[in-house]
Amino acid sequence: MVRTIPVRTIAAAVLTMALAGADPAAAASPPTGPTAVGYGGAVATVDAEATRVGLQVLRDGGNAVDAAIAAAATLGVTEPFSAGIGGGGFLVYYDARTGRVHTIDGRESAPASMTATSFINPATGAPYAFGEARVSGLSVGVPGTPATWERALRDFGTMPLRAALRPAARVAERGFAVDATFRAQIADNAAAFGQFSSTSALFLPDGAPPAVGSTFRNPDLARTYDLIGRHGTGAFYRGQIARDIVATVTGPPVADTPVGTWAYPIRPAELTLADLAGYAVRRPAPTRVDYRSYQVYGMATPSSGGQAVGEALNILERSDLAGLPREQALHRYLEASALAFADRNRYVGDATPRPLLNELLSDGFAGERACLVDPAKAAAKPVAPGIPDGAYGGCPTAPAGAPDLAGQSTTNLTVADRWGNVVGYTLTIEQIGGNGMVVPGRGFLLNNELTDFNFAPTQGSAADPNLPAAGKRPRSSMAPTIVTRHGRPVLAVGTPGGPTIITTVLQVLVNRLDLGMSLPEAIAAPRATQRNTATVPAEPGFDRAALEALGHVFTTMAEIGAATGVELLPDGRVVAVAEPVRRGGGTAGVVRPAGLP
Ligand code: GLU
Repeated sequence: MVRTIPVRTIAAAVLTMALAGADPAAAASPPTGPTAVGYGGAVATVDAEATRVGLQVLRDGGNAVDAAIAAAATLGVTEPFSAGIGGGGFLVYYDARTGRVHTIDGRESAPASMTATSFINPATGAPYAFGEARVSGLSVGVPGTPATWERALRDFGTMPLRAALRPAARVAERGFAVDATFRAQIADNAAAFGQFSSTSALFLPDGAPPAVGSTFRNPDLARTYDLIGRHGTGAFYRGQIARDIVATVTGPPVADTPVGTWAYPIRPAELTLADLAGYAVRRPAPTRVDYRSYQVYGMATPSSGGQAVGEALNILERSDLAGLPREQALHRYLEASALAFADRNRYVGDATPRPLLNELLSDGFAGERACLVDPAKAAAKPVAPGIPDGAYGGCPTAPAGAPDLAGQSTTNLTVADRWGNVVGYTLTIEQIGGNGMVVPGRGFLLNNELTDFNFAPTQGSAADPNLPAAGKRPRSSMAPTIVTRHGRPVLAVGTPGGPTIITTVLQVLVNRLDLGMSLPEAIAAPRATQRNTATVPAEPGFDRAALEALGHVFTTMAEIGAATGVELLPDGRVVAVAEPVRRGGGTAGVVRPAGLP
């Protein structure tokens, strides 16, 4: 069925934005709010400083990729617990000149020493506790973020890496004001951070998190950015920084006098200079599904974002969500999420063959899965995976496996430029605070991304696609997503939140494309996340009663995700949207603000 975004919805969005303070006189003033509308390009991130830097790059003539990398580098300074050069991520790019969508897989990779049993404690034969695996050398994958920035700029940008890193280095040098979120993220991690001399020195000065309102400086990180800017990422993957990363993982910088106590021994791991030197980003074709009159592009493996969002949309396309009562639309959203997660857990990992991924995203497979959605009641969870064998008809299922429940951190940014290029970029160091180790003298935290592998098989007698192995990339849920219509970009959206990333992106898309909400409304709306589990975590404001009557059982999760998005309006304006409230709220800005015509 072909449907356009209803005009009244666009008007509602514009009104929301006008009310949010889109003031033409504010053109050169720093962005402050979660929504902005105007011309000349747009940036939405979780952080005012990063959005300001991205907008300045656009104003100076840079394109969306230049602005995205400069903003991401700034997030590495101001949001160091969620993003930074010690981690990895996925970037999706719509190229206005060719009308094509490209992706960069900058996911961390496992060292050559990793095996399927690396997360099994040899002393007990049981998997390590999550905290034990996280705060150790074992969890550290070879970072992909510096290589992502360099490759994105080289393939799609106009700026040299040095210029893209300069504004962020300046922020690290001069410092920024500590806010409540920054302080809380340190306080929540104080026990882990306190074990390491390098991390304590940076984030626990005088043994405690810095006060709200104080100025936080990171001159080591400024020098690290400068070094990478001058010498390229060779300094990171083959030079001094590589040696420092290897030294940190093989001999964690445990403090002589730790701040607080940690429940587990801190284990080193075998990461080598060859592991770092061998890292390369990949450029997989995006996933694509056609959803009503839209094309939805996402990340292929090792992320499951494109598969799970795309498969769920294919299932949902079989219902006229806009024409159904609201609780029926949400019921189908929850059921489609569960089905897509069952298939993700069974079939999706770094080594998933592309033909299998294509089957999971096929309309035939979605038809089989959709016939398991009963409008009258929620299916018992977990639901079993389907059989994506290319021969479709009926509702066959495979034996069930266990659900996957990982933690959450990460950050997402979204950028559009005056030429119509669009970037969605989700980057992470996995947990908030990564593995807790700052590389001494370098000013950045290492990731714990390898804990995204399953520590032990989860799929019964079937193969688990996400067990650790040498050189393998752990499965991700990150889902930077770009939607086009007739080949032109309509919107982009992404979020942090571990596996809830998938449901948040899906829910925002359904809210926007089917349920008549503006993009600010779609992002602000209360969320629920069904990841093939018996109960459904939902935010307090999510309307449960009618869904409970259909058999859904809810638990409460205070916040789910922290999305950003951009929408390109038919009249040439662009809307930038960040969270109004979650994670302290984000910041959106446009180059030339313009409210209602
Ligand atoms: N490591 C997670 C993933 O790749 C992201 C963490 C998060 O968003 O909180 O799926």
